[in-house]
Amino acid sequence: MRCETCGAPAVLLANACVFCRTPVADSHAPADLLDYLAARLPAAKVKRFGLRRRGPVRELTLTVGATAFGAKIVKGRLRLLPELAPARWVDRLLAALSAEAAGDADLRARLSRAGWKLRPGGRAEEESRKPQS
Ligand SMILES: [Zn+2]
Repeated sequence: MRCETCGAPAVLLANACVFCRTPVADSHAPADLLDYLAARLPAAKVKRFGLRRRGPVRELTLTVGATAFGAKIVKGRLRLLPELAPARWVDRLLAALSAEAAGDADLRARLSRAGWKLRPGGRAEEESRKPQS
């Protein structure tokens, strides 16, 4: 299943697409998440399945700011670094990218072309939904 607004594999956080924050009704772990991310994040290092390494992405690594993000398909299952549920992992990744994009117009343009909603102040949705102290 894909998000009807931004076309991303539907990874939900609080019943909304984690990329563009459009509310979505249903979700399951998308197998093509890595291909989707690799196509939009040229800075990511990827390893692919298949002859001549032209198949689907099986491993993706990207360091954003001080955080190393990794996603790998092991025996058909998604393994993420930092170890988080897929939606939280993407949310964190987008928060880190938002912080980077504040000083990088190219990155900002690329993220907005992808249809992704930047996280204000580089804060994950998860954090900004917590009550303020
Ligand atoms: Zn979306």
